[in-house]
Amino acid sequence: MEWIDSHCHLDGFLNKGVLPEILDRAQASGVHQMIAIGTDLKDWEINYNLASELPDRIAYTVGLHPCYVTEAWAKTVDHLEAYFSRPILPVALGEIGLDYFHLPKDAEATEALKAHQQSAFEVQLQIAKRQNCAIVIHSRNAFEDTLSMIDASGVDWEKVVVHCFSYSSEQIKLLIQRGGRASFTGIITYKNAPNVQKALIEQGVDNLMIETDSPYLTPEPYRGKKNEPAYVANIGLKCAELFGIEPEALAEKLAENTRSFFGLKCSD
Ligand SMILES: [Zn+2]
Ligand SMILES: [Zn+2]
Repeated sequence: MEWIDSHCHLDGFLNKGVLPEILDRAQASGVHQMIAIGTDLKDWEINYNLASELPDRIAYTVGLHPCYVTEAWAKTVDHLEAYFSRPILPVALGEIGLDYFHLPKDAEATEALKAHQQSAFEVQLQIAKRQNCAIVIHSRNAFEDTLSMIDASGVDWEKVVVHCFSYSSEQIKLLIQRGGRASFTGIITYKNAPNVQKALIEQGVDNLMIETDSPYLTPEPYRGKKNEPAYVANIGLKCAELFGIEPEALAEKLAENTRSFFGLKCSD
């Protein structure tokens, strides 16, 4: 059985010198391919180099994550578009979006930071539109603003995935109506997240993708340990159970969905 981790962060593993064992364990769990997602200048070049060294196993994206947005965001975003003329191309722009969960306590600082996040998001959506590429959205406590900013940008909703979907089944309807899709993390394995399971069921398997978002959000039964791409298999097995589908059939469908959305080639 083959699984693809459609969203992970590998820079931490690389910096600690443990990436080879992480990749070995992923391979042993049937996870041959993964997408290393960009968050800031600190990981764009790392992701690029990994995708260049291991093109069969690792694809990459670049984007400024809302939690890394500062008042100097424009300087960082200036470096972004050059990756779209590199020999190895990013498979998407992201993760970009809005995060109103991690905000300062001071009201004035909060408003200022939200304004910076919105500006950085808007500019990056325009880059994605120019590049006609897939877009990985990070959105937390900001569903309405996220939707209205994507609507206003004029990007093709079919190129949009809202990763780590953590909103309701009513909200996912609004995403699907527009042609967008959601991908799901280990949250769907948690007992305290029936709303996210409902949203998963609401979307169905047609456009479904799954991800670890490692090193965060470790799925059951490994909660408490650091998350890694190998565990995307556990998320897939839980999905198969929730949908009442054979794991093999689901894995095949997910691999197909992920390859076609990101334009990935089959691994050898
Ligand atoms: Zn995210
Ligand atoms: Zn992420």
